[in-house]
Amino acid sequence: MHTDILIIGAGPGGLACAKLLAEHGREVIVLERKKEIGAKVCAGGITWEGLIRLVPEELIERSFCEQYVFSNYQKVVVHEKNPIIATINRKTLGNWMAQQAMQAGVELVTGTRVSEINGRTVTVKTPSGKTKTYTCSQLVGADGSTSMVRRSLGIAAEQMGPGINYQIAGSVKKMEWHLNTRAFGYGYGWIFPHKDTVAIGAYGPRGNMSGSRLKENLIKWASARGYNLLGEQCRAALINYDYRGYSFGPIWLVGDAAGLASGLTGEGIYPAIVSGETVAKKIIDPDSTDDAITDMVKKQQLHHKVINLSAKSPAFCSLLMEMLILMLRLKFINFHTLEMAVTPGKTPQ
Ligand SMILES: Cc1cc2nc3c(=O)[nH]c(=O)nc-3n(C[C@H](O)[C@H](O)[C@H](O)COP(=O)(O)OP(=O)(O)OC[C@H]3O[C@@H](n4cnc5c(N)ncnc54)[C@H](O)[C@@H]3O)c2cc1C
Repeated sequence: MHTDILIIGAGPGGLACAKLLAEHGREVIVLERKKEIGAKVCAGGITWEGLIRLVPEELIERSFCEQYVFSNYQKVVVHEKNPIIATINRKTLGNWMAQQAMQAGVELVTGTRVSEINGRTVTVKTPSGKTKTYTCSQLVGADGSTSMVRRSLGIAAEQMGPGINYQIAGSVKKMEWHLNTRAFGYGYGWIFPHKDTVAIGAYGPRGNMSGSRLKENLIKWASARGYNLLGEQCRAALINYDYRGYSFGPIWLVGDAAGLASGLTGEGIYPAIVSGETVAKKIIDPDSTDDAITDMVKKQQLHHKVINLSAKSPAFCSLLMEMLILMLRLKFINFHTLEMAVTPGKTPQ
C-alpha cells in the first residue's frame, strides 16, 4: 500500500505531526504498535511555558503554583502566580490528540508493529499476525527513544538515561523534586500528585548509575518517606537526549526518536509536540522556519553542560545541586530556566 506520509508512532510527537499535515489536506497514515493510545511510562508533568496553555483545562489532573525542591541540605518553595507545573494522564492526552488527528482526516492504525524498515518501505505485523508492506513519499519516525526509523538511518543514540515511575493510589498535596545526590547521583527523584494517584519516580542521565541501582535507591528513598513501592507496578524506559538532526531527505525524526528530550530533567512531551508540528510545517512548506527546534536544541545543550559539570565528581555534583537551590532561593533563576519550552510565537501554529 502507498501513502503520501507515513508516521511511525502515535505518541505526542507523531500525533501532533499527523494532525497538522492532515489539516493541510495531506494523506497521512499513523502506525502504532500498541492497541491503546498514550499508555507511555511517564510522570505526566507539563509546564506552564510549555503544554499547559495548549491543552483544554479538563485534561489537567492537578496544577501547582508552588514547587517544593529539596537538595541534601536545603529546601526551597518556589511560588508563582500561574501554575508552574501541572500533571496530565498520558492516556487522556493521547486519546484527545488521537481524536483531533482523526477528525482532521488522519488514518490511525493501532495494534500494528513495524518490524522492518528499508528506506521508505515499511513492513508491519498486523493484529492478526499477517505481514503488510507500506511505501510512502515521506516517512516520519515518531517511534520514541529506541526508534527503529532512527536505527534504519544508521544514527546512533548514545546519550540516553533511564527513567522509572510508579503510579500508586493516593492523594498528596505537594509537588516535590528531590536533588538528593546520595540516592539519585546527578539525576533526581519526584513526587508528582495526580487526581487519585501519585507518580513517584526517578531519572538520571547516562553514566549516572544503572537502571537497577536507580530503582533500588528509589525504593529505599521512597520507603523512608512512607511510600511502600514494593509490590507496586514499576514502569521504566529510556529517555533519549542525543539530538543529531531531524531532517534526512524524505525521512524525518521527531520527539524522543530525534533525541529532543531534556537530558537534565527528562521533559520530553512538549519537545515531541513542537518538533512534530515543525516537521509537519517543513513537509508542507520546505521554506518554513525551524526556529522552534533550534531554540530547543540550544536549551538542551545548556542542559548537557550542567550534566557534564555534575558528572565531574560526587562532591562537585553535590555542590552544584546546593548552588542550584541557592539560586532558586535567591531568585537568580526560576523554574522556567530549566524548561524545554520555546519562546511563544516560535511554537508552530
Ligand atoms: C519515567 C519517565 C518519566 C517521564 N516523565 C515525563 C514528564 O513528567 N514530563 C515530560 O514532558 N516528559 C516525561 N517523560 C518523557 C516523555 O515520556 C517522552 O519524552 C515523550 O513521550 C516523547 O514523545 P514521543 O511522541 O517522541 O514518543 P513516545 O511517547 O515514546 O511515543 C512513541 C510511540 O511509538 C510507538 N512505537 C514504537 N516503536 C514502534 C514500532 N516498531 N511500530 C509501531 N509503533 C511503535 C510506541 O508504542 C509509542 O506509542 C518521561 C519519561 C520517562 C521514561
